[in-house]
Amino acid sequence: MSYKTYLKEANFVAGEWIGADSGKTIDVTNPATGEVIGTIPNSGRAETERAIAAAQETFGELSAMPLLERVGLLWKLHDALMDNQDSLGELLTVEMGKPLAEAKGEVAIGAAYVRWFAEEVRRAKGEIVPAPGNGRRIVVTKHPIGVVGMITPWNFPSSMLARKVAPALAAGCTVVAKPATATPYSGLAWAELCDEVGFPKGSVNILTGSAREIGGAMMDSPVVRKLTFTGSTEVGKELIRQSADTVKKVSMELGGNAPFLVFDDADIDAAVQGAMVSKYRNAGQTCVCANRIYVQAGVHDEFVEKLKVETAKMKVGDGREDGVEQGPMIDMDGVEKVEELLADATQKGGKIVLGGGRHEKGKSFFEPTIVTEATQDMRFAKEEIFGPLAPVFRFEDEDDAIAWANDTDFGLASYAYTRDIGRIWKLNEQLQYGMIGINSGLITTVEAPFGGVKESGLGKEGGSQGLEDYLDTKYTAIDF
Ligand code: NAP
Repeated sequence: MSYKTYLKEANFVAGEWIGADSGKTIDVTNPATGEVIGTIPNSGRAETERAIAAAQETFGELSAMPLLERVGLLWKLHDALMDNQDSLGELLTVEMGKPLAEAKGEVAIGAAYVRWFAEEVRRAKGEIVPAPGNGRRIVVTKHPIGVVGMITPWNFPSSMLARKVAPALAAGCTVVAKPATATPYSGLAWAELCDEVGFPKGSVNILTGSAREIGGAMMDSPVVRKLTFTGSTEVGKELIRQSADTVKKVSMELGGNAPFLVFDDADIDAAVQGAMVSKYRNAGQTCVCANRIYVQAGVHDEFVEKLKVETAKMKVGDGREDGVEQGPMIDMDGVEKVEELLADATQKGGKIVLGGGRHEKGKSFFEPTIVTEATQDMRFAKEEIFGPLAPVFRFEDEDDAIAWANDTDFGLASYAYTRDIGRIWKLNEQLQYGMIGINSGLITTVEAPFGGVKESGLGKEGGSQGLEDYLDTKYTAIDF
């Protein structure tokens, strides 16, 4: 089946595919080729208000649906995603650029989130708490929060919605979502699939267009009880401010600046493999990508040499070509940001030992790059790189490495390679991050709570916590 099957060039509101009221559209391009692959409606406030009304109307029906019936729909949704994994994966590669294998993997993890929350909702138990005296029962129950607004980024156009849509529907909440303008089709496909498997019309509404207008309508609406956002810290902060007027619950999955620590006692080959996955996956454009690689002096040169050998083997190209491991960057702003950070580093003494420029494949492609002699005064020590640039810092002392790792406003993912059990517990205590990978560079899984601390966000996605975020806790005192 062609990827075009799920390329929908319209909003999905109240079970209907509709254009923008103004009739205006926005072109969507393939970042690997620059070709226009389709258009989307340039919608605004009015269309969003109608979507919110539809979600409100359907909330009663979806939340009252017998639990097993709703769970059954989620199982069908899981199967529909997996049955269409190839075409959905190709659609994702065409709009976003990531290698086809990664894109299909993203569809599969999206399906896995659907299955996880279908299982987890059956255990969304309340509790009965002992009362202080006789003649009373304290009953605590869980209830769907209501209509949920969702705004997602371009780097994981399918799975970022999966982590939100799946727990919302499992809990009985209805959805109004806006995917990123650069990569709207994988998001719109969720509307089509949810409709196909039989969710009531109005359960999942998805719109494209002006971020400010669509986001503004969601934030202003008292009907939208929760807003879940994945994207930059800058926009996240603005949405938190806007949520105050209607006192919405917010979940925020924001930027990261992951440290990747390699100690003298580490298995260096495993550390190099972990760094490859953590750094270069999605061309370095993930919020959990290793942003700063700190290597202890005793193994520094060996680590750099081996990282260089592995990095040099990477095949760069259009994500649809066989064997490609790194696709294009999403746009020229992304390329220019990497160039700026690289120029800053070399000016301050950083040495480029591999790559360092635009790739011959075309202007949106950047060479996998390694910079050594990195220091804490370089911009990437504080800023998210979001590109295939690996800065390597040298350290002598464990406490210095931990202090440098924590010296950032972000607190999403962190990684460390060591075989010392005492050090592992010290890292668990002292790394100020929502997630820590010990001897692993890839830790995202549906069973675990994904999320950050500090300016990386609020709330969790995945795990049992990822369902809690869509439930209100109600306390009823029953005297007898
Ligand atoms: P972004 O610019 O913040 O955009 C994210 C989404 O917000 C897009 O749908 C965007 O719409 C929308 N948006 C932009 N301005 C808005 C506004 N004023 N009001 C409402 N919505 C608005 O982020 P991005 O560049 O797409 O994504 C990269 C960022 O996401 C990185 O910082 C990355 O670390 C973070 N991220 C975090 C996680 C996590 O789980 N913590 C996961 C993935 C990515 P348009 O596309 O129409 O502009």
